[in-house]
Amino acid sequence: MSASGAPRPQPSPVDNPADGRIGAAARQRRLIEERHRLLAENARDVIWTMAPDGSITSVSQAVESLRGLTPEEAMVQPIEQIHPPDSLAISLGYFTQLVEDLQAGRAPQSFRGELEYYCRDGSTVWMDVIALPVLDEQGAFLELLGVSRDITERKRTALELQQARAEAEAANQALLAANRKLVLLATTDGLTGLWNRRELDERVRREIDRADRYGDDLSLVLFDIDHFKDVNDRFGHLAGDQVLVELGRRVEAQLRSCDGVGRWGGEEFLVLMPNSRAEEARQMAERLRQRVEAEPFAVVGRVTISSGVVQRRPWESAEAWFHRLDQVLYRAKELGRNRVELEPEPGR
Ligand code: GH3
Ligand code: MG
Ligand code: MG
Repeated sequence: MSASGAPRPQPSPVDNPADGRIGAAARQRRLIEERHRLLAENARDVIWTMAPDGSITSVSQAVESLRGLTPEEAMVQPIEQIHPPDSLAISLGYFTQLVEDLQAGRAPQSFRGELEYYCRDGSTVWMDVIALPVLDEQGAFLELLGVSRDITERKRTALELQQARAEAEAANQALLAANRKLVLLATTDGLTGLWNRRELDERVRREIDRADRYGDDLSLVLFDIDHFKDVNDRFGHLAGDQVLVELGRRVEAQLRSCDGVGRWGGEEFLVLMPNSRAEEARQMAERLRQRVEAEPFAVVGRVTISSGVVQRRPWESAEAWFHRLDQVLYRAKELGRNRVELEPEPGR
């Protein structure tokens, strides 16, 4: 640790040949001082001392390689020129506490913390700082002894890591948002925001699996706007679009949380009703039919819908089920529209 090749302190001639004991104590003191001088001069850490009045009484040589300042320059720097604001506040906070403790007769506390220091060229370095109050035999405060160790590399790496983490997190969030958007685009209908045909297929398939596993009831309602071609012809395609959007809202308002609705095709909507028998599905469809009929739509006025309701038979294929559904809706149209149809009871 000591400077290689530094001359060893030579035992000086006995200070006081008349008193061997005093000479030995003085030699011992000088040896200790010399040892400290060598340690301070050769340490890579900056070793410094501060008097009770706040003036810096010594700064070791290492300050030059760390901050580009000679020890003499560093000693006379006002504290505002030593630290950037955040570290300055920490430093001043400690000194204030130290003065308060001394004035109140309390034992002064030591300091340990990471502080940023200005260099001559305007850059900064980070140091891990330990400051220890040195007391005399009576416990009176003599000075502050400080050791400041360069931790700039570690601090920069930590800051870079933190920054990289923040960037990675931001990228991840953007990716998640893009993914959510993609999922939304892939699963919903652009006009109404309801499930699209593909999502409906997927949901129906899942509910069929579940129904087969647990033997649950499962029903579908397929409804279609009556004479929608006329609506378009009379009021224009845009007005027609608004009817589709508003109709989607009315259906959603009508459903239980476990039900789902999607746009099956142009002006046809499919409602998937888990745990529902045909009669419950019919009731929902009837409430919806009445609500659509009763509340005129913006621009186009009265609109009606026809619905087919079919409960799935145990183990029935999706194709067979949808075939029955189409037929029932067709019957609703045939029988005059603006109505809800179920399959005819056997024998009817
Ligand atoms: P019906 O009572 O038999 O169902 O008669 P309809 O006129 O509703 O049935 P048809 O199948 O003859 O016509 C469906 C119309 O729905 C024609 C088509 O232009 C319209 N349509 C389909 N998709 C959209 C859409 O996204 N926006 C608008 N505005 N119209 C649509
Ligand atoms: Mg129609
Ligand atoms: Mg149609």
